[in-house]
Amino acid sequence: MSLIEQLRAQFPFYAAANPCHYLDNAATSQIHQQALAAMAGQEASRANVHRSPYRLAEASTHAYGEARARVARFLNAAANDEVVFTSGATAALNLVAYSVGETLQAGDEVLISAAEHHSNFVPWLRLRERSGIRLRVLPLLPDGRIATASLAELVTERCRLIAITHCSNVTGAVTDVAAVVAAARKVGALVLLDGAQQVQHGPVDVQMLGADFYAFSSHKCFGPTGVGVLWGRQAVLERLPPFMTGGGMVGEVSLESLSFAAPPARFEAGTPPVAQAIGLGAAVDWLMTLPWAEIHQAESALLARLLAGLATFPAVRLIGPADLARRLPIVSFEVRGIHPHDVCQVLGERQVALRGGNHCAQPLFAALNSAGATRASLALYNDAADVDALLAGLEDALKVLS
Ligand code: PMP
Repeated sequence: MSLIEQLRAQFPFYAAANPCHYLDNAATSQIHQQALAAMAGQEASRANVHRSPYRLAEASTHAYGEARARVARFLNAAANDEVVFTSGATAALNLVAYSVGETLQAGDEVLISAAEHHSNFVPWLRLRERSGIRLRVLPLLPDGRIATASLAELVTERCRLIAITHCSNVTGAVTDVAAVVAAARKVGALVLLDGAQQVQHGPVDVQMLGADFYAFSSHKCFGPTGVGVLWGRQAVLERLPPFMTGGGMVGEVSLESLSFAAPPARFEAGTPPVAQAIGLGAAVDWLMTLPWAEIHQAESALLARLLAGLATFPAVRLIGPADLARRLPIVSFEVRGIHPHDVCQVLGERQVALRGGNHCAQPLFAALNSAGATRASLALYNDAADVDALLAGLEDALKVLS
């Protein structure tokens, strides 16, 4: 069995009668069997966590803690308590915007980029409305990469936080994180990385990246929906106020006084997504066993095949860097004269699953002077037949629609 066949055999999706050519992995990936089984096992015999002394509750609490430890290993976190479970990347990014936001003064600056997904853009616009921070925005190069050369000019003494994507969900470009972290350190600013797209392409080393926060969603890395992670450097989390409040996140509460639990509990008010976190733990555990060098090679070969195929269509304009270095297999393109929704519709009828539109990144499309794009995003279980089906479907779409 080839590696791709071995991988596919582990996904219930590929056991279905007619799985489509699934190329919408940047929106959500398929779930791994281990994640599904772990979640079902937890739900079949469950108790709430952190509450009761009976055996079932202790088992739940233990499994939830084990899931946290697995995520910490996946990220190479310095401590398990640096991992906060949230409902997803969006919730993690909002958590930082609210909690760090509460510590900022009017006139303090937050730097983002024009490549951000709305979930790392809108929370900062709202913070600006609420507290008068100044929002600065790193521009894009013509090929959609973030112009990190502008860091020198845009990271001022008032910069308190740089919130930036690790990889764009539109262009596939991977950010030069080292340049961002170096610029932030010069002025004592924090760095938040939106890792939503990165995590399905292999384990991440937060210590090597050198940022202070890392956000991602489970459903984009072969785990269940409904859960995500905010990793935060322990010393940074410890000095932040909570975002959501309620049960499980307090120290002492009375009418007169209130104290908070230490992280991560401080940031996990209410009953957490226990089964989903356990499913995510199983997914990342599996991810850590994979031969990533081989997978990256296969992904790059497929990406090259797709880019070369798209280049043969004169009507196609690529949104994103054409070179393969520092890039993930996420490919967005315009088809001259045809709306992306129509391209996706025709391809959908041919069992090729793509996404079209502005991909929750309107500022990026405005910066690149584009009204929207069709996106193909590849994951470790995709093969040449998937890419070829896209290219053949596109040829048909051009015949039908132009
Ligand atoms: N950031 C990026 C770069 C994304 O691609 C996405 C999902 N499309 C998100 C954040 C938000 O993730 P979620 O919807 O899972 O919260």
